[in-house]
Amino acid sequence: MPVVYLPKEGDRREMYRELLALAKELREKYDIRFSRDAKDELEALYGIMKALYEITKMEWEPKGAEKKKRKRKSKPLKKGIERTLLFVKPDGVRRGIVGEIISRIERAGLKIIGLKMVWLGEDWAKKHYPDEMAAKIGAKAKKAFLAQGKEFPWTEEEYGKAILEALRRYVTSAPIVAVAIQGPRAISKVRAIVGDTAPSKAAPGTIRGDFSCDDYEWADVQTRAIMNVVHASDSEGAERELKEMFSEDELYPDYTTLYEELLGEF
Ligand code: GDP
Ligand code: MG
Repeated sequence: MPVVYLPKEGDRREMYRELLALAKELREKYDIRFSRDAKDELEALYGIMKALYEITKMEWEPKGAEKKKRKRKSKPLKKGIERTLLFVKPDGVRRGIVGEIISRIERAGLKIIGLKMVWLGEDWAKKHYPDEMAAKIGAKAKKAFLAQGKEFPWTEEEYGKAILEALRRYVTSAPIVAVAIQGPRAISKVRAIVGDTAPSKAAPGTIRGDFSCDDYEWADVQTRAIMNVVHASDSEGAERELKEMFSEDELYPDYTTLYEELLGEF
């Protein structure tokens, strides 16, 4: 908030001159026209106040925003249409493959309705990867270990906890690029495009299969999370995760892609 210092005992002529000079400067800088030229202090002051008001308003809202303003609430989704969140994890961003990843979503015909780069903090990581997730991650890892004929000498909980901590370090280590996606069965479709959690197992043609070769065992040896390039919500988390990452104002579902012209608007 700018502070304006007024002279204690002003020379009114001097103040008048300053006001007019200020008005002139503002008019030129912001190309603002007053409906008539100021003839006295009151009018000059009025003009300046108006101009300042318009300028701050312009800074809040981009030009033309008034007309394009959307309703804050999105329409309910049509039957069979889902929204989901994908984000390029720090390894994907640092490797410069953000474009490659987003283009796979685009070429599948899914609709991108939000996009942004964020450097996630500890709070977000704790919320997104809460302690309650430990058991689930541990169980998944145990299954993978046993399937490979390997021992699993930890409890699911303690293994999961260590992974969670590593995961929080990983997602906060560099910015991520978040993508909000909408389309027919978008949640499972995006998960399919992304591939298996372990890139070593993920099928070629999937994002994780094509852009990483990391493996549970190799990651565990170094006590770090598997670097699998992207996160994609599952059906349990999609709605909540999307809400946590994007506000309503940051989503743009109300445009029609060319593909929707063939399939019907979603
Ligand atoms: P996703 O939904 O396929 O991403 O997998 P999860 O939700 O089960 O796990 C979240 C993330 O934790 C994964 O994307 C990995 O980065 C990491 N992760 C999960 N399980 C393991 C594990 O057993 N070992 C290691 N090192 N990382 C894991
Ligand atoms: Mg998951």
